[in-house]
Amino acid sequence: MSTLRFDLDHAWREAPAMATPSTLRISATFLLGLAGSIAALCAMVMPDAAEPRLTLAGVGLLVLAGGAVCAAVGHRLPRWSYELLVTNAILLVTLVAWVERDRLDVLAVSSFYLLPVVAGAMQFSLRKAMPMLLLALLCRGWVTIADGVHLPEVLMVEGCLAGLAVLVAWMAHAADVAEVDPLTGALNRRGLERRLEGTLRRLDREGGQCALIAMDIDNFKQVNDVNGHQYGDRLLMGCANAWHAVLPERSVLGRHGGDEFIVLLPDTSLGQAADVADRLRAAVPGEATSSAGVAAWGRGDSQSLLLSRADVALYEAKSSGRDRTSVYGDPDRDASELEAAIAAGEMRVMLQPVVELQRGDFVAGYEALVRWHRPGRGIVSPDDFIPQAERTGAIHALGRWVLDECCRLAALLPEAYQVIGTNVSVHELRRAGYAEHVSLCLETWGTTASRLVFEVTESVFEDNDPQIIQNLCDLREMGSLVAIDDFGAGYSSLRRIEQLPIDLIKVDGTLTRSIREGHDPAILRAIVTMARSLGVRLLAEHVETEYQAQVLRALGYELAQGYFFGRAAVPGEAYVVAPRVPVDDAAH
Ligand code: C2E
Ligand code: CA
Ligand code: CA
Repeated sequence: MSTLRFDLDHAWREAPAMATPSTLRISATFLLGLAGSIAALCAMVMPDAAEPRLTLAGVGLLVLAGGAVCAAVGHRLPRWSYELLVTNAILLVTLVAWVERDRLDVLAVSSFYLLPVVAGAMQFSLRKAMPMLLLALLCRGWVTIADGVHLPEVLMVEGCLAGLAVLVAWMAHAADVAEVDPLTGALNRRGLERRLEGTLRRLDREGGQCALIAMDIDNFKQVNDVNGHQYGDRLLMGCANAWHAVLPERSVLGRHGGDEFIVLLPDTSLGQAADVADRLRAAVPGEATSSAGVAAWGRGDSQSLLLSRADVALYEAKSSGRDRTSVYGDPDRDASELEAAIAAGEMRVMLQPVVELQRGDFVAGYEALVRWHRPGRGIVSPDDFIPQAERTGAIHALGRWVLDECCRLAALLPEAYQVIGTNVSVHELRRAGYAEHVSLCLETWGTTASRLVFEVTESVFEDNDPQIIQNLCDLREMGSLVAIDDFGAGYSSLRRIEQLPIDLIKVDGTLTRSIREGHDPAILRAIVTMARSLGVRLLAEHVETEYQAQVLRALGYELAQGYFFGRAAVPGEAYVVAPRVPVDDAAH
């Protein structure tokens, strides 16, 4: 079975895969060398008296010099300089043919159009190559007709030129399909390794991060033996389809052979990649399960090192029982390590202020955000260790520690109305007795439930676990508030929102970012209407500019949070000891 086909849309926008910096350099050097040598040779064999001899020799030397420059530094030149080169080559041929049309055979000179036209078709996207072809045809038509060549003769040659260019372009782009695995539509090993090479080269130049996931289907050989190869093929196709739907933008899925897949995740940390791996494993269709190994790229790491690290992690996932994700060199792989970090006092809670937009921006409370101060490694962001904590079960110890810290800080807050928002993982809420534990903690620090807001993400929607709802109801009954975090970032079900026991909606930063002058914030306005009719309070996250704050205020948003009002800071240093003084209501 083959699904090879020419993807016109892709060919229109993108240069062929074969047009790498090194093939651009080699082909430009070769074609300039060829054109220059032919011109120089013609000048040499011309009879002494022929006047155009000098022109031809000059042009030949100029073109040869261009070829030498390409040979030396061509791999470092940006792609647009090659586009400029091809366009200039067409114009140069036209100029020589026009100037010398009385003394040289224009038809012979015009054969030089072939070289830039073929180069463009071979190396550029159709969007770039087709206008160049058109330019060459028009220029050639103009100089030959001006020289007295009849239209049928012009059309004959130009038809062949255009046909050849289209054929070369088609072949160059069709070669791209050779990088796609026909069964799953993922990239094949060659395509994947080329993408990986390009990404690592970019990272070496510009810095940044990237991670790799190696995945395979558990017991695939057995599945194949028992159910037949066709079933196995269908399973591989099903997995690839399901993964394409789950993968983040800009990630690349490749089939590395057999049932092994590789996912390349540019600009992704190890923790985020482990999270993606878990989502991919959850998406595997039917009864099948899969294992995943995750590795992160570090400066100077080669492609093969990165691939082998992901493989080592995959092997580890398989040898420790399959149906799991294992992370190469992951310090948090082991729950006990994270728990040891908590015991060693390496965790810190930072507080970010939450302000009341309609009441002079005074600080109504804070959100508690955890950080890991790893000795010798600096500050580790929660995005990097919460996913592993959730997977290894260390989230319970971490959540207990954060809650304890939040109760302690709530008791210390100088203003009695100020509350602390604490992020709680859906894993914690799945445990019976979570609310009781909160109650004990509050009692220990001598503070009340009304000082705490529990922030849960929309993933609680997907979880039909009645225990989660029970815990949330118990927390509200005690007097705490429940907030839905990152609202609008995922696929919210409005019907579920209506059913869930929540008091506050935290609107995701992506919606706040959409506020700009001349753009109607229709979704943000619709959320206000929805929140009012549900009787739920509203908070806008990631407010970074005064303009965003103004728009949100005008729309009727009650609460806001973001860098514009204050970043997360160590309690005591910035906020708790010296909170912003509430502004007199009468003044507003
Ligand atoms: P979140 O609950 O959505 O927290 C808000 C994140 O946005 C924080 O990142 C915060 O520093 C960042 N932020 C705040 N204002 C702005 C802004 O104006 N612009 C931008 N671009 N970002 C802003 P952080 O601290 O890295 O936390 C990331 C996530 O980690 C949190 O997202 C939360 O889901 C999780 N997390 C943090 N602390 C805990 C915790 O104690 N327990 C659990 N389970 N999860 C936590
Ligand atoms: Ca939050
Ligand atoms: Ca949030």
